Amino acid sequence: VEQTFIMIKPDGVARGLIAEIIKRFEQRGYKLVGLKMLVPSESLLSAHYGDLKDKPFYPGLVKHISSGPVVAMVWEGKAVVSQGRQMLGETDPLKSKPGSIRGDFSIDLGRNIIHGSDSIESAEQEIALWFTKDEIV
Ligand code: ATP
Ligand code: MG
Repeated sequence: VEQTFIMIKPDGVARGLIAEIIKRFEQRGYKLVGLKMLVPSESLLSAHYGDLKDKPFYPGLVKHISSGPVVAMVWEGKAVVSQGRQMLGETDPLKSKPGSIRGDFSIDLGRNIIHGSDSIESAEQEIALWFTKDEIV
């Protein structure tokens, strides 16, 4: 079965959107198989966002995501990687359609609420990075 890694970022947690986001994935028919709250270390984030290391926004991105608790999740079900990205919206909330999570709850690229794996391959890598095998039920 397909799985994806979804993380509610510190701004999403601070905004009180945990229940709303979990509800959307559950109502769609996806199954929550991994869940934890943590303040991510900079070394975890440098592995997670390794492909963005040369971007000018990278230092600010790592500073923000390590600034407070995130909710890390693994969701399972049919086409959950691509459908999860659809449910999130575009990277820039201003380009995200109403009805998507970013389109409904954000107007700020650097505070776009949530992360979702962008391919099956990155989902596998991210799940292995954030969760041990016995944390997936
Ligand atoms: P995510 O990986 O968080 O799900 P994404 O895959 O849509 O988002 P990426 O290109 O992987 O987008 O960028 C990771 C994050 O970096 C974005 O979610 C956003 O918060 C931030 N980011 C991306 N581009 C910019 C930018 N030009 N300026 C500031 N922040 C940016
Ligand atoms: Mg990304």
